[in-house]
Amino acid sequence: MVLSTHLHWDHAGGFTRLSPGGQVEVTFPKARHYVQRREWDFALDSDPRSRAAYLADDFVPVADAGLVEFVDGDAEILPGVELRLTGGHTPGNQVVIFRSGELAAAMTGDLIGTTPHLRRAWNSGGDLDVVRALQEKGRLLDEAAAHRWLLVLGHESEQAAGYVSPEGEWTPEPGLRA
Ligand SMILES: [Zn+2]
Repeated sequence: MVLSTHLHWDHAGGFTRLSPGGQVEVTFPKARHYVQRREWDFALDSDPRSRAAYLADDFVPVADAGLVEFVDGDAEILPGVELRLTGGHTPGNQVVIFRSGELAAAMTGDLIGTTPHLRRAWNSGGDLDVVRALQEKGRLLDEAAAHRWLLVLGHESEQAAGYVSPEGEWTPEPGLRA
């Protein structure tokens, strides 16, 4: 199973690779790749600014191989593995949540890319729908603080994962480094 938050090249580039002969091939040919349908549609027909962020060779070969599972909205794809559609950053952006009993970890992708983005009013310059991105980030931070979810940030190099308090204080998880 391959999970990513969205199809920008820096989040989906690992779906494919170049073979020794220079051909594009699927990196994980036995895996199902879960993609929001609206993310897929947008990646193939996006706005002028987004066009450079989507590389068809990253994801079209996966569909050609029959390995894409299209998702419409929120879904629990395995017990304890949830995809939550957020939009905001891109139309089909999702966060990935892993649950086990009382414990949970969330892959935030670009919704909270680095620790400065933990601030509720700071968003990525790449967000297409800023208000929605900030709303969904606020919702995620509220839940993460209330239930002590481990947050795994999409682009953070120094403190890749940690916990946030209701006051917004960040406690990095020392065992996890990017
Ligand atoms: Zn992105």
